[in-house]
Amino acid sequence: MEVRLAHMTFIEVEQAITERRIVIVPTGATEAHGPHMPTDTDTHQAEHMAVRLAERVNAVVAPAIPYGISKTFEHFKGTVSLSIPLYQELVYEVGAALIKQGFTHLVLLNGNRPNGTSNDAVARRLIDDLDERFDFKVTAVSYWEPGAAQIHALRKSKVGGMGHGCEYETSFQLATRPELVHMERLKGVYAPLVGWDLVAPGEPSRTYARRPNPTTNHASIFGDPHTASAEAGKAFIDAAVDGLVRMIEGLQLSYGERRK
Ligand SMILES: [Zn+2]
Repeated sequence: MEVRLAHMTFIEVEQAITERRIVIVPTGATEAHGPHMPTDTDTHQAEHMAVRLAERVNAVVAPAIPYGISKTFEHFKGTVSLSIPLYQELVYEVGAALIKQGFTHLVLLNGNRPNGTSNDAVARRLIDDLDERFDFKVTAVSYWEPGAAQIHALRKSKVGGMGHGCEYETSFQLATRPELVHMERLKGVYAPLVGWDLVAPGEPSRTYARRPNPTTNHASIFGDPHTASAEAGKAFIDAAVDGLVRMIEGLQLSYGERRK
């Protein structure tokens, strides 16, 4: 079964809408991810997870949004950030287009942490603006959230080791695109643990602090990539996919919809 909307004609898309398949929009970023990983890490991961999820729940994956909210790393070359209002407008327009065509469940599947709160706001706005004309729901979730407890149980790093270019993301890339990862460049690289984790933070907090800069010897890493491995990446990904499937199935039951 084809899951990529970009590979379908309008005829297959029409069919997918008739079958009430979920549509997933992966939201990514183009930003520095340490000296060892590509700038499209978040986009690739959001899209990879979207496809894995879609294969399990018979959903459709719309083209990923490759730019996000990345001002945190704009002092590093290769980072291209949208402003928050423009990012929100972009996700809103994409979501509204899919809803107006008849998709009844839109999932904004995020791969770049700072996009997450914006995706929530966009989901809210889509419902407020369009629910009188269209019967639909929107789910805004970062792909690591539903399976966070299971991922947490698999980790090697200490608290603060899972952030950005970290144990989790480096393992993910080693498992899926090892040819793009330069582990040898991490030798001697200063990668401080951060005060919060990407997954299963013990004490969740939305705290914002001064941004990193290469002139202060920062490597655009938050967390501990030294503990990463392809094997761990595969386990993290499986746990995250299982979490997302559980979440989607739970939502469908609670809305009284059962897949065939
Ligand atoms: Zn990332």
